[in-house]
Amino acid sequence: MFWEKDIETISRDQLKALQLERLQKTTETAVNSPFYRQLFKGKGLAPHDFKSLDDLQRIPMTTKDDLREEWPYGFLAVPKEEIVRMHSSSGTTGRAIVIFHTQSDLDSWTNQLARCMYMAGMRKMDVFQNMMTYALFTGGLGFHYGAEKLGAMVIPSGPGNSKRQIQLMQDFDTTAIHIIPSYALHLTQVFEEVGVDPKKDTRLKMAFIGAEPHSEQMRERIEDFYGIKAFNSYGLSEMSGPGVSFECTCQNGMHIWEDAYIVEIVNPDTMEPLPDGETGELVMTTLCRQGMPMLRYRTKDLTRIIPGDCPCGRTHRRIERIKGRSDDMMILKGVNIFPIQIEKKLMEIPGVGGNFLIMLERKGFNDDMIIKVEVEREYFTGDLKKLESLRKTIINELKSDILITPHVDLVEPNSLPTTEGKAKRVIDNRKD
Ligand code: AMP
Ligand code: ZN
Repeated sequence: MFWEKDIETISRDQLKALQLERLQKTTETAVNSPFYRQLFKGKGLAPHDFKSLDDLQRIPMTTKDDLREEWPYGFLAVPKEEIVRMHSSSGTTGRAIVIFHTQSDLDSWTNQLARCMYMAGMRKMDVFQNMMTYALFTGGLGFHYGAEKLGAMVIPSGPGNSKRQIQLMQDFDTTAIHIIPSYALHLTQVFEEVGVDPKKDTRLKMAFIGAEPHSEQMRERIEDFYGIKAFNSYGLSEMSGPGVSFECTCQNGMHIWEDAYIVEIVNPDTMEPLPDGETGELVMTTLCRQGMPMLRYRTKDLTRIIPGDCPCGRTHRRIERIKGRSDDMMILKGVNIFPIQIEKKLMEIPGVGGNFLIMLERKGFNDDMIIKVEVEREYFTGDLKKLESLRKTIINELKSDILITPHVDLVEPNSLPTTEGKAKRVIDNRKD
């Protein structure tokens, strides 16, 4: 049993009181770090100044650049001998930053993950295959300890070695998997290759998918192929890793654990706070971390709070699936486009396979978007008219959504690069 009912269904008033108490402790710890000591001094703030949650607004936001500049120990708030582990972000947007944990930090994080998986329906009798990298990346170890805490049997398979993954699922009756969504789609081709139908030949019931943006359409494809429920899992190393926010069985937004984080949504241009329901950048403050507390951290992830209560009874608010990072946005011929918009459209079109790659090129003063799309093998046999007609459909569908006309190249399954980690969807060759 891992249903922390008292805390998960706590009244909003009690939750706010708990947040304030924890915020006060967090600021007291945070000022032990060189970065926050300097920041508080510069602003004339003292840790006991925080009499209400509104006072949080007096603290300037912390950014990834701050973490880079203070690399490696500038945010450390406890003596180094208290640290038992470090992790690092995947570094897709510059120098990888590092996060340090005390044993108590790891215990809270593990607890959050156990809570998440229980919320989605995983239980002690489940067999959990963790197909995520076990290394500096937080996805592998984070889920591993959470699943053990829940009491499930963990298969620490890590990513890759696709045929062996399928074999493990069959040999040990795996019921739950943790997998990057783009890899889950890639794996569908391997299932077909080895002639295993996950619906009939495995006991899979659920997947936890996250670590990269993905659309509802991509989730549906995964659910249909595997015959399972796929739950969105969101987190970032700076906030410990996965386990920050997770879907319950209602699958309508991800509960964000507000006993562990204070959540703000702000306008990314003006930094003004936005009300529930409006999309902006997620800003978070840790409430349970000692080794490296973070105050008002700008995640760069764009989402909104879903207004209203969740039928599951949990009172922690829900965020909508992440639209993308503000720095993922492509600007082409004056139009703002997120890769997830393209993914969403592509996944709706029958015949389109699981992988695609967007390339941006500059020709003179013109920017072009070239999208390479994998399509099902049957389109390359016999009459090529079907292929051309699919190409035209894709162009028209995309044009109606992103308002520019991309060039579309259709390619055979498995011909585009795949990674075991987060998919790289965009190659921007426009840099002069
Ligand atoms: P890292 O700390 O390197 O693991 O990367 C964290 C980042 O991955 C987040 O800031 C998001 O941009 C992205 N991310 C993680 N989980 C999700 C998810 N479920 N949906 C969309 N993006 C995600
Ligand atoms: Zn719920």
